Amino acid sequence: MSERINVEEIFGENLFTLGKMKERLPKKVYEEAKHVMEHGGELSLAAADVIAKVMKDWAVEKGATHYTHWFQPLTGTTAEKHDAFVTVPDENGKMIMEFSGKELIKGEPDASSFPSGGLRSTFEARGYTAWDITSPAFIKEAAVGHILCIPTAFCSYTGVALDKKTPLLRSMEAINTQALRIIRLFGNTTATKVEASVGAEQEYFLIDQKKALKRSDIIFTGRTLFGAPAPKGQEMDDHYFGVIRERIGSFMKDLNTELWKLGVTAKTQHNEAAPAQHELAPIYETVNNAVDHNQLVMESMKRIAGYHGMRCLLHEKPFAGISGSGKHNNWSLCTDTGINLLDPGATPNDNIQFLLILACVMKAVDTHADLLRQSASVVGNDLRLGASEAPPAIVSMFLGEQLEDVVKQLVETGVANDLKEGGYLATGVSTLPDFKKDATDRNRTSPFAFTGNKFEFRMVGSSDSVASPNTTMNAIVAEAFCEAADILEQAEDFDLAVHDLIKKYMTEHQRIIFNGNGYADEWVEEAKRRGLPNIKTMVEATETLTTPKAVALFEKFGIFTKAELESRVEILYETYAKTINIEALTMIDMASKQIIPAVVKYTKSLADTVNAVREAGADASAQIEILNDTSKHLSAMKAALKKLEEVDHTAAAMEPGKEQAFYYKEVVTKAMDDLRAPADALEMIVDKEIWPFPTYGDLLFEV
Ligand code: ADP
Ligand code: MG
Repeated sequence: MSERINVEEIFGENLFTLGKMKERLPKKVYEEAKHVMEHGGELSLAAADVIAKVMKDWAVEKGATHYTHWFQPLTGTTAEKHDAFVTVPDENGKMIMEFSGKELIKGEPDASSFPSGGLRSTFEARGYTAWDITSPAFIKEAAVGHILCIPTAFCSYTGVALDKKTPLLRSMEAINTQALRIIRLFGNTTATKVEASVGAEQEYFLIDQKKALKRSDIIFTGRTLFGAPAPKGQEMDDHYFGVIRERIGSFMKDLNTELWKLGVTAKTQHNEAAPAQHELAPIYETVNNAVDHNQLVMESMKRIAGYHGMRCLLHEKPFAGISGSGKHNNWSLCTDTGINLLDPGATPNDNIQFLLILACVMKAVDTHADLLRQSASVVGNDLRLGASEAPPAIVSMFLGEQLEDVVKQLVETGVANDLKEGGYLATGVSTLPDFKKDATDRNRTSPFAFTGNKFEFRMVGSSDSVASPNTTMNAIVAEAFCEAADILEQAEDFDLAVHDLIKKYMTEHQRIIFNGNGYADEWVEEAKRRGLPNIKTMVEATETLTTPKAVALFEKFGIFTKAELESRVEILYETYAKTINIEALTMIDMASKQIIPAVVKYTKSLADTVNAVREAGADASAQIEILNDTSKHLSAMKAALKKLEEVDHTAAAMEPGKEQAFYYKEVVTKAMDDLRAPADALEMIVDKEIWPFPTYGDLLFEV
């Protein structure tokens, strides 16, 4: 039986919270730190020294031996380099653990190997990490020891952002400034800050580690590159919300404990649609903390799965033919006085501030649908978007019946006097209450859905950092707010002007609203008629970052310079090419060293059987048929293997960049599909004893 956990006691145990600072710091230093956290600015070195000492003492009490500047380079994961608190011993051989303010606020890792997209050549490899004081330090417990992690931003010597956090922090400033202008127009004088709140629901697969280690595709690429469907998929819907099996449950329990200690509010857990697929959702929080915490969630999942003899797959499409994994990014805007600006209230048709904000979000999403699509682009997501149970690659907005009707009235008549009510849902059972119906049903097929008081962006991939999607969200909405505020601040008659502006934005951007089935083929046609972009792949999405529209947006709010955007484009093309190249090489390896030899062995045993049966004077036509089928697929496979080797060779010899990435996408991935098809057909024929690695059935149903 499992041991009891006292959540209240362990929650935040490994987090150096503001409360802990208050307890341990002299009042003046605490006030200074708090001020910087809330209003920005720089911490004095004197204060930093005091904080560093206190932080180190706390960490050492908790068993920490090292500290690290924890940062988020453009690889999409986190980076850390540990330094022990050790110093040179005195003449008696005694060592005093030390940690200075300078070490706390600034670090200089040898940064030459992180992707920089040409912004930094190796001979000027200096990269700096700077403490993000708004994100609390924490202690990570791992086999390597207890490590004090200090969340940092990572920049070059010249201040160019080399990470995902710096632009995110810049975008937070933009949305704060512009959202404050909007609420001031409506008479709010008390709020001093508006921040994006984010809750990222994380989907993942858990499979048996021993089996996973028998497949080099999972080891090298995090997904299966071969594999015929198992006799059972997810058609019975018996996994979704099903009883959590004990092995998975004990993993979830350890994961929750670990996350709670780190101050991550792990809240919801359940089995997902596909077999072996699960989900964890935390309670939403300020976006930069949500981004850090999502990284910790992903990292902890992988580590803790290992302790349980399992492997956690965060890839967007680890298995063909069943649901992939995403990360639903729930986004809203909250003031420091606790008001959610996306809360429509009981009568959204009367809530002018809400309607203006909604109109601005419509404008933002329609104007920059391409950028939103790009912000959810990782290599694995190409296989997920538009496939079973995932939103399509077309960005549209779902508002629900009630709000859609309000928008319609406003567009058509300029007023919205009627409000569609939810009504009551009769349960038909006298002992059960009748439910008050939500005015909005859910639409699971929409990539961008309004869900009561937040938008849920469902395109994001499961392995991806949520920094980019939220940087883009903040930026595009800040731009719309800014334009609206520019107009409304000058208006002589505010009521009239705001009314006209809402109508104008809603009219101009109503094409982005779609409440129907996003999975249907008709929607692709309809979206085309509406002129909405349908950007199917990551490589096609990449150059949306450097259109004049995008550069103007990001430069206006100081989120990215043109050079930073160009560097990111370069990195994305390279990442795509490298990822596909690894996948292609892995397929070549598995095909030539495992599958083909196994099949050859099988044909030999079939041929021997045919001869033996014939010699015995019996009819060998069934065996011959199997042998013929097998040989046919085998020669197709051999030809496809040769082709893949050729095109991958050509691709690898090309100059890195757009052309190479497109070649990988158009030619190499096609050759990969062509190799997979005969191999999967062979898996269906060949003796299971001979098949060289675990099948979908073994991986998905025997965890
Ligand atoms: P589901 O869509 O799966 O039913 P939930 O209602 O449980 O999801 O919420 C999903 C996520 O949305 C959670 O992480 C939750 O904390 C987050 N969330 C709820 N309200 C907000 C909000 N106002 N802003 C941002 N995220 C929110
Ligand atoms: Mg959800």
